[in-house]
Amino acid sequence: MGLFSRNKTVLVDSDVLIIGGGMAGCGATYEARHWGRDLNIVCVEKANIERSGAVAQGLYAINCYMGMQWDENQPEDHVRYARNDLMGLVREDLGYDIARHVDSTVHKFEEWGLPMMKDPETGRYLREGKWQIMIHGESFKPIVAEAARKAASKVYNRIMVTHLLMDRKKSNRVAGAVGFNVRTGDFYVFRAKAVIVCAGGASHIYKPRSVGEGMGRTWYAPWSSGSAYALPIQVGAKMTQMENRIVLTRFKDGYGPVGAYFLHLKTYTENAYGDEYESTWYENTKAIVGDYIDHVPVPTCLRNHAFLEEVKAGRGPIRMVTKEAFQDPHLETIGWENFLGMTIGQAVVWASQNIDPKHTNPELTTSEPYVMGSHATCSGAWASGPEDYAPDEYQWGYNRMMTVDGLFGAGDTIGGTAHKFSSGSFAEGRIAAKAAVNYVNDIGKDVPQVSEDEYQRLKKTVFQPMENYQIGRNEIVGGTVSPSYLLPLHGLQRLEKIMDEYVGGIGSNYMTNEVLLTRGLELLEMLKQDLHHLGAEDLHQLQRAWELQHRVLTSESVTHHTMFRKETRWPGYYYRGDHMKLDDKDWHCFTLSRYNQESDQWEMEKAPVYHIID
Ligand SMILES: Cc1cc2nc3c(=O)[nH]c(=O)nc-3n(C[C@H](O)[C@H](O)[C@H](O)COP(=O)(O)OP(=O)(O)OC[C@H]3O[C@@H](n4cnc5c(N)ncnc54)[C@H](O)[C@@H]3O)c2cc1C
Repeated sequence: MGLFSRNKTVLVDSDVLIIGGGMAGCGATYEARHWGRDLNIVCVEKANIERSGAVAQGLYAINCYMGMQWDENQPEDHVRYARNDLMGLVREDLGYDIARHVDSTVHKFEEWGLPMMKDPETGRYLREGKWQIMIHGESFKPIVAEAARKAASKVYNRIMVTHLLMDRKKSNRVAGAVGFNVRTGDFYVFRAKAVIVCAGGASHIYKPRSVGEGMGRTWYAPWSSGSAYALPIQVGAKMTQMENRIVLTRFKDGYGPVGAYFLHLKTYTENAYGDEYESTWYENTKAIVGDYIDHVPVPTCLRNHAFLEEVKAGRGPIRMVTKEAFQDPHLETIGWENFLGMTIGQAVVWASQNIDPKHTNPELTTSEPYVMGSHATCSGAWASGPEDYAPDEYQWGYNRMMTVDGLFGAGDTIGGTAHKFSSGSFAEGRIAAKAAVNYVNDIGKDVPQVSEDEYQRLKKTVFQPMENYQIGRNEIVGGTVSPSYLLPLHGLQRLEKIMDEYVGGIGSNYMTNEVLLTRGLELLEMLKQDLHHLGAEDLHQLQRAWELQHRVLTSESVTHHTMFRKETRWPGYYYRGDHMKLDDKDWHCFTLSRYNQESDQWEMEKAPVYHIID
């Protein structure tokens, strides 16, 4: 009898199951209760919702707020902005839907106790930029989590979801999820009528700039492990824009944010010799992307492109000119507080490297790529749009339902909708939950059935790495390396190396081509075969093992999408060396993929981009 049989199985019934209690998950849990007063609403989170997800450490700004009450912006303006930044390709129906609801979400945050900075003259929220408002946000996440905790029938913390369960009667319908408690090792079977995946984005797909002792230092949260993509991919949900991974320009070594510096402190960048450099790359960029370089504001990826070219030309490092702004004591305070509320590590790095921004202009760098759906990027699941606004082709069911019945998503999970950030992710969680409650009410007694055979089979699969370790460790004669198993860390480093070298990471200056991608896929396939031999010595390592599995599937998706889109749509995020130009004629479209787990094959297709807003 295997080791896994010693782990207790706990069965949990729910009407709406929310996977991941970050920004989107808390929004979904809160709203599900509003529309489903008598429903059983369960939220499951691999950490503790009090401080989980990308907002764990707090934020200093809410980056998506229209200000409609003061006529500052309208939802249409936000769609135009996101479309421009993503080089023309966004789901305008989904973006509009978030923009029209996001203000009320922000008002809720204030009602729940989030300290908002106010303009002393107008009394309005203090703007950092056209879309950003400033907050004292160290406790942003606990405030949001409290609303979710009060709304949920139950929150299960410390349970990592590894697989979704499918209905035994209808092949394309979700029926719940399974996972394990990372502290007790209990195996959980969540039966649900509807599931909302809110499991955040993906870091550690690509080799990070900080390796070895600094490995945990990434820009996106190191615990964002691609579950948001892998869970739906495993059950055949369509994904979109997975090639649109993001590269961030940030302060070097600490990945400290630059937004408040540019927007509020009005700092600017210069090359090693004190020269402005962006304009010198205008013709070069125009040759790749045409008129997109003339758009205002300049799309994020194109600003990266100028940075990368300047460094390649030997005129790095690029520095942020802080010396001028920091002479003003008020701006100096804002500059430091910006880190203290969000990325304390950057202040520590500067202290350790003798950098006082009042006297030294700090270096910037470009990050390794991340996969996410809520920032200046829009990777994620292909979702049905709002009934009153989406074109027919974008509508096959309930709002935010994926191409699997009963499976919804929000935040980083959903593709095509860039620039939603913390507030937009919460708002999208609310939108998805309202639709999921409608779905549950509509199915009535036709509820999905979970097969015991299926979850017993998954239980064996989930705990297999511990079984592998128990057996394999007997073969160790020295050190920790066994001939028969692979440790999660070794698998992760192998994945990061493949993605870095073949799929356009920092090591290749974000460059790839069909030959490299083909080889990358071969190596990923070999890695996948070896993942059957993952060994986990304890529950912590078991979690690492399943995070790795999710990262590998996410990476495979990124690689197939990057191969399919034969153009360089976002120079500065990545380059196809064999198709160095943007090609609007053939590629002004979304890329879609569907993974078939049985055959281990990926089907790729194009979907039209509809411009609904003028
Ligand atoms: C460094 C940084 C700075 C940012 N700055 C800003 C800013 O200034 N302003 C702003 O508005 N936004 C900012 N954002 C963006 C914002 O944090 C994200 O847009 C938002 O958190 C996305 O919400 P989400 O719910 O999709 O993901 P998250 O909030 O990350 O939540 C995902 C949740 O899922 C859980 N989870 C993951 N996998 C599993 C699994 N398998 N089983 C169970 N649970 C799982 C995670 O633990 C987590 O709690 C920033 C993000 C980062 C990382």
